[in-house]
Amino acid sequence: MKEHIAASVAIVGGGPVGLSLALDLAWRGVDVVLAEQRPAGEPPSVKCNHISARTMEILRRLGLAREIRAAGLPDDYPNDVVFRTRATGYELTRIPIPSREHRLSSMHGPDTRWPTPEPAHRINQIYFEPILFRHAAQSPGVRILNRTRVEGFRDDGQRVLATARDLDTDRTYTIECRYLIGCDGGRSGVRAGIGAKLHGDEVIQRVQSSYIRAPALIDLITPPPAWMSYIYNPQRAGNLVAIDGRERWLIHNYLLAHERDFESVDRDGCIRALLGVGGDFEYEIIAKEDWIGRRLVADTLRERRVFICGDAAHLWVPYAGYGMNAGIADAMNLSWLLAAHLKGWAPESILGAYEKERLPITEQVSRFAMQHAEGAIRERTHLPPEIEDDTPAGAAARAQVGRAAYDLNVQQFACAGLNFGYFYDTSPLIAYDGEKQPHYTMFDYTPSTVPGCRTPHLWLADGRSLYDALGPDYTLLRFDPSIDVSTLMRAAAERGVPLALLDVRAREESTAYRHKLLLSRPDQHVAWRSDEPPADPVALMDVARGAAM
Ligand SMILES: Cc1cc2nc3c(=O)[nH]c(=O)nc-3n(C[C@H](O)[C@H](O)[C@H](O)COP(=O)(O)OP(=O)(O)OC[C@H]3O[C@@H](n4cnc5c(N)ncnc54)[C@H](O)[C@@H]3O)c2cc1C
Repeated sequence: MKEHIAASVAIVGGGPVGLSLALDLAWRGVDVVLAEQRPAGEPPSVKCNHISARTMEILRRLGLAREIRAAGLPDDYPNDVVFRTRATGYELTRIPIPSREHRLSSMHGPDTRWPTPEPAHRINQIYFEPILFRHAAQSPGVRILNRTRVEGFRDDGQRVLATARDLDTDRTYTIECRYLIGCDGGRSGVRAGIGAKLHGDEVIQRVQSSYIRAPALIDLITPPPAWMSYIYNPQRAGNLVAIDGRERWLIHNYLLAHERDFESVDRDGCIRALLGVGGDFEYEIIAKEDWIGRRLVADTLRERRVFICGDAAHLWVPYAGYGMNAGIADAMNLSWLLAAHLKGWAPESILGAYEKERLPITEQVSRFAMQHAEGAIRERTHLPPEIEDDTPAGAAARAQVGRAAYDLNVQQFACAGLNFGYFYDTSPLIAYDGEKQPHYTMFDYTPSTVPGCRTPHLWLADGRSLYDALGPDYTLLRFDPSIDVSTLMRAAAERGVPLALLDVRAREESTAYRHKLLLSRPDQHVAWRSDEPPADPVALMDVARGAAM
């Protein structure tokens, strides 16, 4: 019988964000207990379909990228995004995205030349999350409590005492931890418990979604099929996502402004209209997955020893596939800060950086996603009436809508800016040098070593990715081995900051790296750069470990 469980960090919620946080903390040597109300192995609902390149980089570091990339759609199934009048109708335009078998080698398409060892991966959450779960459950540093609901908590200034209910026995017990992290999703009880309030737009789009089995559909679609098919016709607009590449699909029916109640809209009629099939077409509804697209961001991410991450902290329309991915980015930020403090080399003040760094990014991403959603809503509600006509005017209308759809949507499906462009420009942990970080959009990104940016990727002369050579903690990148960095290394040792030295021999010249020394943080962001060691290396180490805040 569970009476009292203790760990350094307790995580509430074992969705993709909670599981990633648990895995990363354990990788950094922190013991974790994770409470999840679902039974062990119960798959999540069929929501997210895109793991961003930045998330894949993180999964690579955890040793999971290869296994995750091998899961999901069949090897040769096209990952393209297509726009059609109906799922079985005219093609308007296509954004080419390589299938898994060509993903690491293809040079064709708008996201194939990105400076990363790990391009994005299209996979549904129902395949992704169980892999995270399995690895977390096997990790010696993680204890998972399934069928456990956290019902409340008390922070006594030294530790947090959470009340957990075992849903099988209905008994309650206490989880004691030094820090509690709410990764408990959109209806977060932890968010309510710390008094955080969501602000923004309650409703941007209502979507009647159905997870269906339709084995006959794939043969009715004009080849090649696609991972995601947007459907634009004057009757209805929606989106069809291939889940297993054979018979299971997620179909989103974008409700019109006056359609406020999910159940009063004819689900079957709309599915048939979107697919472009008649009454005799056979399919089965596996689950109804209706959802509301919102733009809501919490006003705070922390109250003393309690933090929130992921959907608990922000909810927005899943344009650019950046709900879960942004949540995992929060988790990775918080993970190294917690580990630095719990392992004793950073004071507790370092934890203040989480909100200072992540809250502005969260606000920004939410606006990118919303602006894109508004553009897409405008686009699909202003279609030429002749778009489905088999006439020259119909063909011209399709070409025009297709061009506009490509231009708008390539930004969300090849969102290098969202992946790699964001930077921390007001962080207390970064030694800025006066140069401004390059502007980015959802689509565009300029690799840069300006402090605060993601440490730009390089292929090393020995064939490795720079990211495989970076240590789990701070790494000093030295591009000129004749520079004496002993004062810096000594300062790190004096302050207890784990710092590895990496002499970089790059395979190719990089325009991003213009300095001979660069300090890369445990989360692969630039903390400092220069051509020579700092005049006061101890002061730099104090900035890096949050002792100068
Ligand atoms: C249609 C759709 C498509 C999407 N597509 C994408 C996409 O392509 N890319 C992307 O990045 N994002 C996408 N998203 C968003 C993505 O699904 C979410 O952002 C993601 O699931 C959030 O993960 P999370 O771990 O924060 O929360 P959740 O996945 O909601 O997990 C929270 C967990 O906490 C548990 N829990 C809650 N309360 C308690 C408690 N008191 N005690 C114990 N356990 C508790 C729940 O059971 C749940 O397992 C999409 C969303 C939708 C609706």
